[in-house]
Amino acid sequence: MQDLWYAQDAESVLSQMRSSIPGLREDEAHVRRIHFGQNKFPRQKTRSDIDLFVDQLKNPLLALLAVAWGISLSLHHVTDAFFIGIFILVNTGVGFYQERKAMRALEALHALITVSARVRRDGNEKIVEAEALVPGDIIILSAGDKVPADARIISCRDLRVDESALTGEWLAVFKSTETAPKDAPLAERVSLLYTGTIVEEGTAEAVVVETGRTTELAQIAESAYSMSVRETPLQERIAHLARFAAVIVVVLIIIIVILGILRGQSLGETFVVALALAVSAIPANLLPAVTLILSIGMMRSLKRRVLVRRLASSETLGSVTVICTDKTGTLTEGKMEVSHILAGREVLGEVFHGEDKTAEMLRAHALERGVLGTDAFIENPEDDIYEWNIRGRPTEGAIVLEAHRQGLEKRSLESNFPVIDRLVFSSAEKFSASLRKNGNGAFLSVVGAPEVVLARCTSIHAKPRKVALSVGMRNKIAACVEQLAGSGLRLVAVASSEYKKKPYDIASLGEMNGLALLGFVALKDPLRADARESVLTAERAGVRTLLITGDHPATALSIAREVGIPDKPEMLLLGTDLDALSDEDLDERVRTVTIFARVSPEHKLRIVRALQKRQEVVAMVGDGVNDAPALHAADIGIAVGSGTDVAKEVADIVLLDDSFRSVLSAIEEGRLMFRNIRKVFAYLIGDDFSELSLFVGALLVGLPLPLLPAQILWINIVEDALPVVGLAVDEDRAGIMQEAPRRRSEPLASEPLRKWLLAIFCITGVATFGAFFVFLHAVGSLEEARSMLFALLSIDSLILSLSVRSFVKPLWRSDIFSNSTLSGAILVGVVLTALALYVPPLQQMLGTVSLPIPDLILVGFISAVEIMLIEGYKRVFFGGGKNV
Ligand code: ADP
Ligand code: MG
Repeated sequence: MQDLWYAQDAESVLSQMRSSIPGLREDEAHVRRIHFGQNKFPRQKTRSDIDLFVDQLKNPLLALLAVAWGISLSLHHVTDAFFIGIFILVNTGVGFYQERKAMRALEALHALITVSARVRRDGNEKIVEAEALVPGDIIILSAGDKVPADARIISCRDLRVDESALTGEWLAVFKSTETAPKDAPLAERVSLLYTGTIVEEGTAEAVVVETGRTTELAQIAESAYSMSVRETPLQERIAHLARFAAVIVVVLIIIIVILGILRGQSLGETFVVALALAVSAIPANLLPAVTLILSIGMMRSLKRRVLVRRLASSETLGSVTVICTDKTGTLTEGKMEVSHILAGREVLGEVFHGEDKTAEMLRAHALERGVLGTDAFIENPEDDIYEWNIRGRPTEGAIVLEAHRQGLEKRSLESNFPVIDRLVFSSAEKFSASLRKNGNGAFLSVVGAPEVVLARCTSIHAKPRKVALSVGMRNKIAACVEQLAGSGLRLVAVASSEYKKKPYDIASLGEMNGLALLGFVALKDPLRADARESVLTAERAGVRTLLITGDHPATALSIAREVGIPDKPEMLLLGTDLDALSDEDLDERVRTVTIFARVSPEHKLRIVRALQKRQEVVAMVGDGVNDAPALHAADIGIAVGSGTDVAKEVADIVLLDDSFRSVLSAIEEGRLMFRNIRKVFAYLIGDDFSELSLFVGALLVGLPLPLLPAQILWINIVEDALPVVGLAVDEDRAGIMQEAPRRRSEPLASEPLRKWLLAIFCITGVATFGAFFVFLHAVGSLEEARSMLFALLSIDSLILSLSVRSFVKPLWRSDIFSNSTLSGAILVGVVLTALALYVPPLQQMLGTVSLPIPDLILVGFISAVEIMLIEGYKRVFFGGGKNV
């Protein structure tokens, strides 16, 4: 039953839920969890295996096969009908296998996208999986969070929520604690937060009222966590290509039938041969193979700590030309640690000598106020310090931890100075603040980027009391900041102001002024060990790395220098300078600028747009709420795993380990996927069409039909379906990160590839046709000639599957056994060919005869010549990799 939570005030909802501000007791939460179950509901029903199989049958190409099957039956070609039947089974089987594997992969990814929730229990805040929430839990939300359960707001500030997941209305709505009339429509129930919606702005505390299946979302939407599984543009293009190929095949078939009739072949036989050809030449396996490649790519990425949320992004990844990366956490470890604290006159560059009690006190005071101004907390302060779970932004966590080390416990500080109001950190404002009671008065404590905080300071807290800030002092402070930042340290300033009497509820915390500077906290954040290497890898792969940071320019420059991003002075652009640039000027500047410092999230959007105007394919890394537009606008939006739910929601990929290196892993996997798609494409097209050219040739010259329908089908069962799976899982990464990014306009069948395919048609066409001619005259028996041709076609297409593995490396220089799936497929192919040639019952069905050794040698010789020519043309057209 849905109670009208929004129509009651917060207190009565709280008491009805038998909960209170300090939250439920853990044991109570446990009991409720058993009673109410997990806070989740079944996602989109996944397709069952049967559905999936039926889907395979809906393939229009299959309809064509079915027609062929019917026709051959009605013509009493039982053997052919039998083989067409097998062919249909094998093909649907392989298609089914591929799609099933792809789907399972997607599901596994699905399960990884979990939402966590900040909850208060027993008076302790902690982060739990959203699934663990129960009705009555007190949850704490701030900008960027996904609402983990339906909840009644108890208190909130500037709360704006994006409810589009529920209402489809993308304009964010304001929320408050106010009750709404009983008949209010969903969108007007302002005091209720709904599962799956996203906090865009502000903060809130709320009591969970509905979980799992009883949430609004569970009732109306199938899934808020659904990932896009639409066909990617690439898949669409492939499907289109496959259809196009099918049309060509049909045209050729008609030509063959007409030729056959003109040549006086029996109509029935010609017709069945033509059908068999059509059946085997149509690249029915192309699309399932592409789907498989994409999903294998996703799984491989996942192993490398990259979650690909949108299949379509995989193909763009290979084309990325610019990565705009964050600094904190991406290039650096994100494991912030306080290096030292400067307080009082130390910020002016003055040094205290020896033991100085006053300096100690000032530093401790700055730290205390710093802790109170931040939002991070320790989940389990009662445990050993090494086991602490520090939650919140790393910068703040470092301050809280340092304070604890010095005996300033955040929780007891907080109970001494209860919070009245707070403002959480945002990259746009670059500071956080909280207003707290202090005896009869109050104080405000502000922590943030030095310039931002200093701009609001009018005095400095020095020995023995406050001193007004003079211009000279400001200059000294700026020099001090510059020097510290230049050594790669991150700086935050701590300031505060006291209020002796009421009213001290500041109308808007955002407009605070007249603060007194207490000091600076200098934090160090070690570079990731692999950051430099990764930037280099990107450079070799033709991808530029741009550093975009909210941090101080000196810090940014020093980090850039360390990781090897070009750092000449003219390559630095500040957020404020960016504001002054027109769009046109910015378009020009982005060509050379490599470091953007002190930028806000809005700047990122402009940077993305400017780069895109220069035809760059942009991958943008982001984490915050305000990064969402830039992530969305970028060709590849990348969220870091520790980022906000919003960022992850809009991102194409998520870096589970936050690391810059993972961006390159993603690009590499993207490139590999495209490579494999090309291989499969080249193989299927190259192979299938050569048979057609053989038949057209034979009929033109007036030779008998080179192969029997059953033989054609057998060859294609053996040589198409199995090696394609082998190629789809291929993992040849040689030189993959030394190639330039693929142009996005470049088609799947690039010019060299088209030329090479044409060469393959001609070579195999001429070779097989010539071979048939020679066989026929040399051995005199049509059966034996056909059997030899049968062997030849089987063997050379198996070899072709090895040849297309690389457009760069010649076959004889590649490790042909490195792909065990492909090797297996080839082995099976060879065995099946041998069985067809030498096992009497199969001989009967297929019309083959046992070939003597000299015949086999001849077949082997012709295959070798063919493959040498094909390899030769590979070199001619692809130039050894210069123009893949
Ligand atoms: P980036 O993520 O690119 O390193 P941020 O936007 O996070 O940059 O930070 C910009 C500046 O804001 C930092 O240099 C620091 O001075 C300050 N700052 C960063 N995080 C916090 C925080 N959690 N609380 C207060 N100030 C912060
Ligand atoms: Mg940051």
